[in-house]
Amino acid sequence: MGAIWSEKPAPPAVHQPRSLQEAWELKTILGEGAVYVSGGTLLRTQWEAGTAPLPQQMIDLRNIAGMGEIGLAEDYLTIGSLVSLSQCRGNLDLREIAPAVQEAVRNIAAPAVRNLATLGGNISSGYGDILPALLVYDAEVASFDGKFLSVQPVEAWLKRRWSGEKPAAELLAGIRFPSAGHEHGEQSKLEIFRKVGRRDAFTASLVTIAVAASLDAASRSLSGVRIAAGGGTGRPQRLPAAEALLEGAVYSDSLMAAVYEAVESSFDTYSDPFSTEAYKRKTAGNLIVSELWKGLNAGGGE
Ligand SMILES: Cc1cc2nc3c(=O)[nH]c(=O)nc-3n(C[C@H](O)[C@H](O)[C@H](O)COP(=O)(O)OP(=O)(O)OC[C@H]3O[C@@H](n4cnc5c(N)ncnc54)[C@H](O)[C@@H]3O)c2cc1C
Repeated sequence: MGAIWSEKPAPPAVHQPRSLQEAWELKTILGEGAVYVSGGTLLRTQWEAGTAPLPQQMIDLRNIAGMGEIGLAEDYLTIGSLVSLSQCRGNLDLREIAPAVQEAVRNIAAPAVRNLATLGGNISSGYGDILPALLVYDAEVASFDGKFLSVQPVEAWLKRRWSGEKPAAELLAGIRFPSAGHEHGEQSKLEIFRKVGRRDAFTASLVTIAVAASLDAASRSLSGVRIAAGGGTGRPQRLPAAEALLEGAVYSDSLMAAVYEAVESSFDTYSDPFSTEAYKRKTAGNLIVSELWKGLNAGGGE
């Protein structure tokens, strides 16, 4: 009888496909009991916390060729799904083209975790801290559905991910950013990512915000405004009401008050054991307005 209780569950079988097609076929055949694994850092926290069962079958994606590279071509900066967060953190092209994404990466975990953790794993979770930053650039996701590799805006991919329309076997192959047009000419650029957690550092996020806009310092106005928020296991989302208020408008205190109201009333988030939905909405509003204030007032007060 004692032997029954001390018996350990059988370790999962590990499959190591060499192509996206092979990985997709394995997942399709093995079904729900099989899980894609990249760095395994998020999955491990879920298995240890008991929020996801240890799978019977693991499909280790790390041997798939071509998904661990970063490439800059004329039109796009492309980052493969298996590129580690450490590689993202050190990449100079990403720093140039999407600094808010690099700032998001810098705020995730500690170096040992970032060496294993991948960009693809962060995005595939549907709530990774990088997602709000991707939303404020025109980043696109390349995904494989068993037949085709298709490219779509991060926002559209997220919508499918959160509505449950994304097929379980779909694989994330990588992301890309337009590489042209990030030169700003006369205008400077506001590109911001901020994270609030329960501690100052090495902490899971409660609220994250990202902003990207062109700044006309002379008129103290913004154009091409993109604002996004997320955090925890909540849905990362653009905040179009706040964006519309800011587009082309000249800085004023009343504008900032209206932006705060728009964020607080439109950010769709959730309560958890550590903070309420109301706290998260207020925090997002405060973070966005204080960062805009700093950006618009840099080099001279009102
Ligand atoms: C101590 C610690 C601190 C952390 N702090 C943070 C934090 O502050 N912010 C944050 O966002 N995360 C944090 N994480 C979670 C995690 O490290 C990151 O989100 C990481 O980027 C996940 O990547 P991964 O390769 O390890 O994903 P994995 O754990 O391998 O996979 C994550 C999910 O994505 C799926 N998946 C992976 N790759 C693919 C693919 N190519 N196609 C389709 N599905 C795929 C998996 O099936 C799984 O559901 C932390 C983890 C630890 C251990």
